[in-house]
Amino acid sequence: MKYASLIFILLLLFINTDAQTAKDFAADWDKQHFSKIPPSNLRHADLKKQLDELKKLGLKIQEAGRSYDDREIYQIEWGKGATRIFMWSQMHGDEPTATTALLDMLAYLQKNRSKTWVKELENSLTIRAVPMLNPDGAELFQRRNLQAIDINRDAAALETPEGRLLKKLRDDWSPDIGFNLHNQGSLTTVGNTARQATISFLAVLGNAEGKTNDGHERNKRICAVMISALENFIKGHIGRYDDSYNPRAFGDMISAWGTPVILIETGALHDKNEMFLVKLNFVAYLSALKSLVDKSEGKADAKIYESLPFNNSGSLYNFIFRNANIINFAENLEPFTADISINVERRRASEAAPTYIREIGDLSIFSGLDEYDVKDFYLIPRNGLLRVGASGEFLFYKKTREVDWTVKDLEKAFPPDAVFSNGKWTKGGKLLEKVSK
Ligand SMILES: [Zn+2]
Repeated sequence: MKYASLIFILLLLFINTDAQTAKDFAADWDKQHFSKIPPSNLRHADLKKQLDELKKLGLKIQEAGRSYDDREIYQIEWGKGATRIFMWSQMHGDEPTATTALLDMLAYLQKNRSKTWVKELENSLTIRAVPMLNPDGAELFQRRNLQAIDINRDAAALETPEGRLLKKLRDDWSPDIGFNLHNQGSLTTVGNTARQATISFLAVLGNAEGKTNDGHERNKRICAVMISALENFIKGHIGRYDDSYNPRAFGDMISAWGTPVILIETGALHDKNEMFLVKLNFVAYLSALKSLVDKSEGKADAKIYESLPFNNSGSLYNFIFRNANIINFAENLEPFTADISINVERRRASEAAPTYIREIGDLSIFSGLDEYDVKDFYLIPRNGLLRVGASGEFLFYKKTREVDWTVKDLEKAFPPDAVFSNGKWTKGGKLLEKVSK
């Protein structure tokens, strides 16, 4: 009896170390992730160092081609199975999350090859991954390549070396599935809600007529698997990307050329950092790959994908200041009441992200990730002039104060009670009432 329970405990331990569920993948990522720096800070030189480390783990890594500015573009291969999986990231230079997630996934698979389920993946799949297809754009943290061409509109013209390489890698190998990995705006929302679309999926059709095929139907089921996995962490924050056929876009054309593509767009989640998004990608990829091998994909319900709300935009801002008593002192001293919204531009984690005024007026139908009711304050544009597109820097004065707005150096003569600059309170933020949601 004693032995029986001991064996049972050992068995449980054995099962627990053999990760299978989305939560297990996430826990494993927490413990084992290979990446050390936020994806937006990862430069091409950093990527090369990380690939050297992956090589030491035994991963097959080759230079696949060069960018317009002669930077190396690499392809990593893992597995020896019959099903060919092609994954590429950062075709847009300022969309880096998946690059890091791919490195984390491949390092994890390579390090855990002794586990039964990983062995099954290794024997069933061959994965080829191109992390950072657009290294010149990544270096500048810009969408386009160095010719200022959007590589994702170059699938037909093939004017960019990066686009030509992507097509060649596909054509030489004819993968069974393609994963086209991008980032979307952090203010993209799920349907008509104010919820950020943290991850959005699209099973790409690849034809203008809207005709489905086996590969497309399979990809919808794979999306369903990934959605179910991610709902453990971001329920309500998953969207569906709009499928409008574009004969210049790689997702559509790679599907049309015979490799049905799944598009994954990573957005953001308020108060969560980039590494959380990397983890979500890691969980999604592994859930998808495992479902192909254990055949659970075949039983997945495509309706889980089909019933996702479409992505939306324009209803959410980074910040809203409600009921502000605005004094535009550079042109008029008469206060007026309005709401003001501020958005933050996309930058590397290591750089300050500029903010700009997006809207002024009645914003009652919109939401902000952070909202403040500032009815008890005067809101003063730091440079004295309120304009849409101007930087979102404000001084706040309690309405009970007597201030001469015409004085030369206002901030010095009348120190403000609170200051909002570059998306942060640099003074007195606690005085303002945050709107709870
Ligand atoms: Zn993109």
